[in-house]
Amino acid sequence: MTKIAFIGLGHMGLPMSKNLLAAGMEVRGFDLSAEALKSFSAAGGTGFSSVAEAVLGADAIITMLPNAAIVGAVYADVFKAAKPGALLIDSSTIDVATARSVACKAEEHGFEMVDAPVSGGVGGAEAGTLAFMVGGSDTAFKRAETILKPMAGKIVHCGQAGNGQAAKACNNMLLAISMIGVSEAFNLGRSLGLDDQTFFDVASNASGQCWSMTSYCPAPGPVPTAPSNNDYKPGFATALMLKDLGIAMDAAQSTGANTPLGAMSREIYAQMDKDGNGGVDFSGVIKHLTGEL
Ligand code: NAD
Repeated sequence: MTKIAFIGLGHMGLPMSKNLLAAGMEVRGFDLSAEALKSFSAAGGTGFSSVAEAVLGADAIITMLPNAAIVGAVYADVFKAAKPGALLIDSSTIDVATARSVACKAEEHGFEMVDAPVSGGVGGAEAGTLAFMVGGSDTAFKRAETILKPMAGKIVHCGQAGNGQAAKACNNMLLAISMIGVSEAFNLGRSLGLDDQTFFDVASNASGQCWSMTSYCPAPGPVPTAPSNNDYKPGFATALMLKDLGIAMDAAQSTGANTPLGAMSREIYAQMDKDGNGGVDFSGVIKHLTGEL
């Protein structure tokens, strides 16, 4: 039986680990939160009280952690305790430079590693339909693919180490921009006397069509499953979008890429967060733009 160690059993990690258990894998877990460990044990996992204990003897180690500093610290422990030949998979969303530096250290310690951030949120984690964007060598990707399958709807090899994080940063910058664009269009339409549903019927079948419009419409009504019909409860919280835009803008600065709309989107979401709305779904930007939120 494949033995997996899962570090970081929060909103995403816990349901992801449950899908590995459901696929018949042995899953050993660690989280700083006793509450998270309790839920993990209740789901059939084996909880441990440190990274070192959890990774002992594991064939693969998956991390799903809040930020780059924590990822760096956790892998320092992993390198000391993991079994030689274990595959390392970091699914946290972090910056490209840190992902590449941790992968480089892994190689120095004799481990194969991939960065494998995800898109699809808590719903995708629960349903086992996450999209994984994977950076690493061909052999590491092939090994990772088998392990990620029970948690995935789609797995794409994006190239060398760090390229998974690069794809995630670019995708979420585009998402932020398109959500603001769709929101502005609805707000302008309303100011001109255009009904939301009518505008949706036009734009979703015209050149304005995009995911933010047709799958996650910020105006309540046209897309019943969208957070706009649930008082803008996340979904994908503004604070998480702001984190991802920070990663994208740092990357743009370090490479010299010109991303003016990305920068403006970050300013808008930063203001929304500053106003106390970091916990509101990012599609709530439609109300932020009119001053209702
Ligand atoms: P979360 O805060 O719910 O979970 C993180 C978990 O890591 C927590 O349970 C925390 O106790 C644990 N942790 C922190 N430091 C630790 C340490 N040193 N050792 C062990 N455990 C530690 O966050 P989340 O929503 O599950 O997100 C995890 C990652 O996934 C983030 O990088 C986030 O950006 C990314 N992500 C989240 C979503 C989403 O919709 N929530 C979507 C895509 C990607």
